[in-house]
Amino acid sequence: MINVTKPFLPPEQEYAALVSDIWKRNWLTNNGPLVNELELKLKEYLDIPHLLYLNNGTVALQIAIKALELSGEIITTSFSYVATTSSIVWEGCKPVFVDIDKETFNINAEKIEAAITPKTSAILATHVFGNPCNIDAIDAIAQKHKLKVIYDAAHCFGTQYKGKSVFAYGDISTTSFHATKLYHTIEGGAVITNSPELTHKMSYLRNFGHNGPEAFFGIGINGKNSEFHAAMGLVNLNYIKAILASRKKQSLYYNDRLSTLTTQKIKIQALTDFNYAYYPIVFKTEDTLLKAQALLEANWINPRRYFYPCLTTLNYVKPQITPIAEDISKRVLCLPLFHDLTTVEQNFICRLLLRAQNNK
Ligand SMILES: *Cc1c(COP(=O)(O)O)cnc(C)c1O
Repeated sequence: MINVTKPFLPPEQEYAALVSDIWKRNWLTNNGPLVNELELKLKEYLDIPHLLYLNNGTVALQIAIKALELSGEIITTSFSYVATTSSIVWEGCKPVFVDIDKETFNINAEKIEAAITPKTSAILATHVFGNPCNIDAIDAIAQKHKLKVIYDAAHCFGTQYKGKSVFAYGDISTTSFHATKLYHTIEGGAVITNSPELTHKMSYLRNFGHNGPEAFFGIGINGKNSEFHAAMGLVNLNYIKAILASRKKQSLYYNDRLSTLTTQKIKIQALTDFNYAYYPIVFKTEDTLLKAQALLEANWINPRRYFYPCLTTLNYVKPQITPIAEDISKRVLCLPLFHDLTTVEQNFICRLLLRAQNNK
């Protein structure tokens, strides 16, 4: 069975060594030494001033929305994982969908201004598949209309835009370190901002609002993560270079072997050092996608329809239409891509895709 992704696991003894230290300290969670060390190492690796390690990427989005005190309408994309939209609704705000660009699959910045109303408080955009949004245009619109910007950068570990980690952009960037992401801590996430004030605010939001053991700054939630998760993150960080390098090599190999496939590939934003987090291909029709998917699955290969269905179909959002996102959602398939996917496996996948194309 070849799945769309496979969690990276480091050598067991490296993780076990850190776990043995946890046993000695008997300090399991609540901002322990490994959580602290992971935060320091991540800030250093990403070259960013502030980062708070959290229990997942969904709570990261919720804490970001709370920290910026957003209300009313939030402009967002309908082509993302469901957590992008559900967090907005969970925080009592209304998602207003703006359609995507048909080549980058990211929110189309040219269509944002038309969606702004007096109730709009922010833009929450996803850098889909690790490909940066049109950040310059989005930031200019936000400044002009005094809106906050949150980037859901769950796919973006390792992506650089204009020579900086893409996490450095927006009022707050959020990310996920879930096991399916290219860098993971089993479960986990983070919020990143350049603002020390927002960092302080989010640090108490993630810890029940505590200001010391017997006082509170205000409302909070439990967004903390454990020493065991941080240990996985610390060990995995030693392998990130190799993980990024193998995905690049595998993606370029797919490009080469699939050059005669009539599917559309993602267009990467200019001035980007891409992390090759996913390998999406867009078929001419949903029908050709379904035939290719069926042939792959008959051969024990499980690609995934990231992201299908389009988020406009959720039963808890007001009916809205984003034709390009709906169309791409129906035709996009992500091929298997993970650290130890072999050339033999890739050749097999590519042969099946070409056979599906020729047999139609
Ligand atoms: C994975 C993902 C999330 C959620 O992250 P979790 O850590 O699983 O909660 C949010 N947004 C996007 C775009 C994702 O891919």
